[in-house]
Amino acid sequence: MAGLGLARGLATTFRRLTRRAVTAQYPDAPPQLPPRSRGVIALTEENCTVCMLCARECPDWCIYIDSHKEELPPAIEGGRPRSRNVLDRFAIDFSLCMYCGICIEVCPFDALHWSPEFEYAELDIRDLVHERDRLREWMWTVPPPPALDPNAAEPKEVETARKAVGVSPDPGSGAAG
Ligand code: SF4
Ligand code: SF4
Repeated sequence: MAGLGLARGLATTFRRLTRRAVTAQYPDAPPQLPPRSRGVIALTEENCTVCMLCARECPDWCIYIDSHKEELPPAIEGGRPRSRNVLDRFAIDFSLCMYCGICIEVCPFDALHWSPEFEYAELDIRDLVHERDRLREWMWTVPPPPALDPNAAEPKEVETARKAVGVSPDPGSGAAG
């Protein structure tokens, strides 16, 4: 029937008029995101051993790493010289990244972390390639890890260090029980 649709539409409009708005006025009202939201990836360069796992596992191939080998003197006299990887470039192209988090999951040395920061839109797509300095700056916005479960088993590294210096486990920790 003609006009029925209009009446229904007006009824819906009047119903909605009396309800509280659920939309947020971003950017005037910043959204209340969960602290562990996937905003941007931060890098702790000191932890990176240039193992290349993150770059190999990234489904988009949007992690760029360059490095060179550096020779170190032998650890003991008469030993063989050692070598280590030195990072020359670490960059992530956020115009390709799909925020899957695989790179963070596979990093064996906790060098990559999620930051909830999301306000890094650019007018030029090339500026979405974040080089190591910019990735490091994001570390300031990474929330601290959640507190450890007091009843959890003692981590192996802590146990080894404790035994090495002859300290007994803390009676309040899970390691003591
Ligand atoms: S979040 Fe996923 S797509 Fe983005 S850099 Fe890491 S592995 Fe690649
Ligand atoms: S997986 Fe971690 S340690 Fe290995 S290259 Fe990537 S960031 Fe560095």
